[in-house]
Amino acid sequence: MTVLDDIPFRLDEAAFLRLTRLEGTAEVRGLLERVAAAARPKAAYKVCYVGERGAERVRIEGQEFRSEVLVRNLEEVERVFPYVATCGTELEELEEAGPAADLFARYCLDVLKELALGAARDRLLEHLRTAHGAARLSSMNPGSGDARLWPLGQQRPLVGLLGDVEGAIGVRLTPSLLMRPNKSVSGILFPSEVHFESCQLCTREDCPRRRAPFGGARAHP
Ligand code: SF4
Repeated sequence: MTVLDDIPFRLDEAAFLRLTRLEGTAEVRGLLERVAAAARPKAAYKVCYVGERGAERVRIEGQEFRSEVLVRNLEEVERVFPYVATCGTELEELEEAGPAADLFARYCLDVLKELALGAARDRLLEHLRTAHGAARLSSMNPGSGDARLWPLGQQRPLVGLLGDVEGAIGVRLTPSLLMRPNKSVSGILFPSEVHFESCQLCTREDCPRRRAPFGGARAHP
């Protein structure tokens, strides 16, 4: 497992204010300063090779993954990059240290954690491009989109594939399969000529995070 834990996080105040439609009050600026000083986004990944393939299952280095869509996406793929990226435990600790009733600060922190996670994801993609020559990567993430795409429970073999993720970057799975810190993501990055997004196969209407329209033809079950 390779760990990226020196990820720069440049907090863009203007982008944050635009996103939240907040004013740059002293309270908000104080929080942004604390977050900028504390944030340590991180990512961990492994280079793996696809093994035995079935109609709805695929083995990757000893772990079995069950998803028809994943199988189709990996049809012509040999090398994959399972990964976990996170905003980092430092922001979670900042949240826990704050007054529990301060819902406003918690809302702001949640948005900032999302931005830190974005920085971790971007750095991981850049690293895979430069260190492994892996451009044009798409990602599938357990639990993303409709449950049938790749069930959330598949986070267990994914984390099992990587090893001691908690020890490496502080991300842990709860018994109900949520990740802590909450702004963390696990998945498998794979090369694809045509970019794939789970949103293409997800029927959730009005999702504010939709990254692609419904109905993409590739990998449709
Ligand atoms: S549309 Fe929304 S819920 Fe569905 S996969 Fe995309 S981001 Fe996830």
